[in-house]
Amino acid sequence: MNKQKNSGYIKSKQKRNQSNKSHGKKHLGMATRKGDKSQGKHASTNKHRRNKKSLTVVVTCTGLTNEGRGIIQWEGKKLEIEHLMPGETAEITISINGGDVDAKLKRLITPSKDRVKPRCSYYYDCGGCQLQHMNEQAQERFKQVTIDKLMKPFGKPEPILTMEHPYDYRNKSHTTFGLNKERQIIGGLYAQNSHQLISMDRCLIHDPKADEIWQTIKDLMKSFKMQPYNEDTGRGFLRHVLIKVGKVSGEIMVVLVVASPIFKGKNNFVKALRKAHPEITTILMNVNNRDTSMVLGDQEKVLFGKGTITDTLCGLKFDISAKSFYQINPVQTEKLYAKAIEMAQLTGRETVIDAYCGIGTIGLIASKKAGKVIGVELNKDAVQDAIRNSKRNGVKNARFYQGDAGKFMVEMATRGEKADVVIMDPPRSGSDEAFLSSVVKLKPKRIVYVSCNPVTQVRDLKYLVQYGYEVKGIQPVDMFPQTVHVECVALLQRKTI
Ligand code: SAH
Repeated sequence: MNKQKNSGYIKSKQKRNQSNKSHGKKHLGMATRKGDKSQGKHASTNKHRRNKKSLTVVVTCTGLTNEGRGIIQWEGKKLEIEHLMPGETAEITISINGGDVDAKLKRLITPSKDRVKPRCSYYYDCGGCQLQHMNEQAQERFKQVTIDKLMKPFGKPEPILTMEHPYDYRNKSHTTFGLNKERQIIGGLYAQNSHQLISMDRCLIHDPKADEIWQTIKDLMKSFKMQPYNEDTGRGFLRHVLIKVGKVSGEIMVVLVVASPIFKGKNNFVKALRKAHPEITTILMNVNNRDTSMVLGDQEKVLFGKGTITDTLCGLKFDISAKSFYQINPVQTEKLYAKAIEMAQLTGRETVIDAYCGIGTIGLIASKKAGKVIGVELNKDAVQDAIRNSKRNGVKNARFYQGDAGKFMVEMATRGEKADVVIMDPPRSGSDEAFLSSVVKLKPKRIVYVSCNPVTQVRDLKYLVQYGYEVKGIQPVDMFPQTVHVECVALLQRKTI
């Protein structure tokens, strides 16, 4: 087994006096929560026992970082401890190595009343979720406080829109395969920020059907003598399995990401997989023979079905291909899009730009209430999907263009074109100056900014505010329960000068 046993320690590494964003690779098991005999005997800080480079201190957590880690003060320094919650007293181990301070939770003394046992047994190993040790109210509070803090310069955000059943929500999953010490095939997810494969049979935020399918693939690999790809040696065949599920349509896409185009026994493998899961509607092979952490390579071949899945969102039907972006939590996406379109205040006459449009979802949903929609997106497959999606839904007033959104907007501004509303939904890195400065030149009345990274969103909002816009509303949406991530949509209005 590749998986380390839970040993009761949690690690987080940080530079003295500053947080280290690429924190601890490995998450080990939770320190015991059971009654602690020494409770109350320790002051909140600094009763420590020194040894050469490491010492144990008792501390009280005073708050959470934006990444959900507990904040403690130690000798005038702020340290971050993974999985520690506000108000909790705990024994932590601090290791000092030159300028590096490595602090980890050793033993909880007084657990928070909001602490729960994580439902996932891989939680402390995997790191893909960061908040499962908090109950739903504490997760909600954490996300609200984080957004309130970040958005403070612009006003008070609305209460976050939470999810009724905050599990099983991901419509997309990728899993990886490898060999354990006994050379048996294992499958699962990489631990956060690492290439250590955690063997698992279920991820509680994945669609349960998707997990059943890749478990079957793991079993089929044995009977077909298919070797998992080994990144270090470059040997082996199956690198990853990407599964996309249409939550409304029930359609399922399976992408076998392989290291070589020569797939021995391909037809029988596909047949066996379909026999075990007749609910699969399309199977693709994607060849990724590069030394890369990217999941998908360039070559793609449809082995069964139409090569895409179709799903319904906000009453429209969308074709989704293997490489296109599609929001991973459709239940919450409907709430997000409804809010974004409400913020756009469309009357049927407006020219709306849907920038970073993916497969055209927001623009096509908005098209019913707009004069015309212009979508721009970098990914070729996604733009093709968007064009197909506008036809499939009988939308006549939308056009989609492939290209960099920044360049596209610069060209529009240079041609002196106008837009009434810009809806933008950039990737985590946010937008860029080319895009933002052109938006300012186009002078839309309203900008609706959707973001999965409030830090870059704040940066971009500051720019737009500096150049004549006012933030009129901020709506956080919990699109990624159990994790620290928060989606946020903001409305900006042009000041009349
Ligand atoms: N609005 C869509 C997609 C949002 S994700 C939805 O809700 O589904 C962000 C999208 O931006 C991705 O589809 C990505 O391919 C695209 N993208 C990334 N960089 C870009 C750029 N420089 N110009 C245009 N699109 C870009």
